[in-house]
Amino acid sequence: MSNPKPGEKVIKGLTGSEGIAIGPVLVVDEKRKRIQPRKIKADAIYVHLQRFAKAKAAFLKELDELTLNLDKKTAEILETQKHIISDREIEKKINSVIEVELYDVEYAIYGTFNEFIERLRESGSELFQQRIVDLENLRDRLILLACDNDRELEIEKGTILVLQDISPTDLVTYHEKGIKGLVMDKGGVTSHAAIIAQSLNIPCIVSTKVGVRHASNSRKAVLDASSGELILNPSRAVLTEFKKKIRDLNKAQKAFIKAGERSETKDGFPFHLRANIEFQQELILANEFKAEGIGLLRTEALLFGGMSKRSEIEQDKYYDSILSGMSGPVTIRLFDVGGDKLHSQTPDENNPFLGWRGVRMLLDEKAMLISQFRSILRCAGKYPGRIRILVPMVALVEEVVQVRKVMEEVQKALMDAGIPIDESVPLGIMVEVPSVALLADKFAKEVDFFSIGTNDLTQYALAVDRGNERICSLYQQHHPSVWQLIKATVKAANENAVPVSVCGELAGNKLGALCLLGMGVNDLSISPASIPKVKEVLTSRSMLELRDFSEKVLDCSTTEQVHEVYGSWD
Ligand code: PEP
Ligand code: MG
Repeated sequence: MSNPKPGEKVIKGLTGSEGIAIGPVLVVDEKRKRIQPRKIKADAIYVHLQRFAKAKAAFLKELDELTLNLDKKTAEILETQKHIISDREIEKKINSVIEVELYDVEYAIYGTFNEFIERLRESGSELFQQRIVDLENLRDRLILLACDNDRELEIEKGTILVLQDISPTDLVTYHEKGIKGLVMDKGGVTSHAAIIAQSLNIPCIVSTKVGVRHASNSRKAVLDASSGELILNPSRAVLTEFKKKIRDLNKAQKAFIKAGERSETKDGFPFHLRANIEFQQELILANEFKAEGIGLLRTEALLFGGMSKRSEIEQDKYYDSILSGMSGPVTIRLFDVGGDKLHSQTPDENNPFLGWRGVRMLLDEKAMLISQFRSILRCAGKYPGRIRILVPMVALVEEVVQVRKVMEEVQKALMDAGIPIDESVPLGIMVEVPSVALLADKFAKEVDFFSIGTNDLTQYALAVDRGNERICSLYQQHHPSVWQLIKATVKAANENAVPVSVCGELAGNKLGALCLLGMGVNDLSISPASIPKVKEVLTSRSMLELRDFSEKVLDCSTTEQVHEVYGSWD
């Protein structure tokens, strides 16, 4: 946008999901989220008093358990904490805020502790200042133990949500409540939340670093995600300008859909555009934009509540809902837990993206792998010829061999039990670790298909954490090294007659998709929202032109050069 008007403030970030939104702003500051003053009805007093009593008891128990294994000095600190929590004055005050003033338990704890903290702060004593941090920690722990996880967050429809980071499940919940835009201080352009925002057609910017800080006092904003800007307190002129842009975008999208009925280049080379999804809600857009099936079904959401809570029956229902909600092939990826997709069993690791992730976890957690295979194979029996199984985060040939062995054992057990299965379900791997691209001809002997995951391939080729906003400029999906790894994979796939597709975000980028098709990859799986624009661009060029284009890209040695080649085409 042009220079901001008085009162406006522009926050810059990176495009996580294109589009424009105008709406009220809601800042969800994780630290402050539960501490807004919230009144309760008289009949809820008892529940809130109970929640405080239980939180206090749970905290004291935690401290007791901790004290057992500590040296004397540290144990003494915990003893002091126990005294504070057991303090009669604090307890009386919290209970009275609930009973008399009719505030909920979170606010009662928050307000009461803050009063004490303020008194310490005003005392000016250096010693007391140090105690403030302890008290704040105590307060937050107590609030956490007392908080009601099921409490509904009320949201105005059309809200632009501003926060540090968000889990995929929370994002889907917020989407169902009607949010229209997402701004994250953290995360990279291929972080999990950004990918889901695309699928749900929610404009999103990431890596804003200061969004939460600056947006807290704003009522309204314009989110121009395509150019990576959040405009706080927009002037009337800016609102008018962006309302027009939204109308134009809607018109253009309708035109794309019409233009995109055909799936072949100008000179008749066919291509396939499939959808990447994780949640059932994403099927709506995938169907609307006529995706040719699901090229990547991420299944991690099944685990977010903790594996123990998810039975095989729930898995069965989930796969069935996807297969019945969409025609065409569906590639189901085995659980890719780890990295930025954590669940309750993921351990704390210094380098989660290099750690216990994907196939590494699956081979250790055999029961989980077997159960997922059982469920998918049963579903394949119901929908023969439509399911393919994809193994994530493979780095070694041995890993594929072991996974196939488990799959065959499960197939045999199901057949012995008389359960119908599809015996020829293809087993393929994600090509997302450079070792696989480099040894693609060896892997080709062991697998039925390749699916190139450029999001991780980029992070592992360039040694750049894809979710780290501090180094996000180094996360270059179009870097020549990524293109060379793709080239090596495609060559080995063709020589061994192994089908190859691309399911990373690179394929959802217009120029990335053009180059991939020029290299001979005609099977792309992308966010449903990207289908119309990619289809439009692929149908507008001939294969001859695309081959020439990709040769030029493959000749580059820097990302800047790649962008120059793109520039001459755009
Ligand atoms: C990828 O790594 O490119 C990919 C598609 O998988 P995810 O983004 O889920 O890691
Ligand atoms: Mg990946």
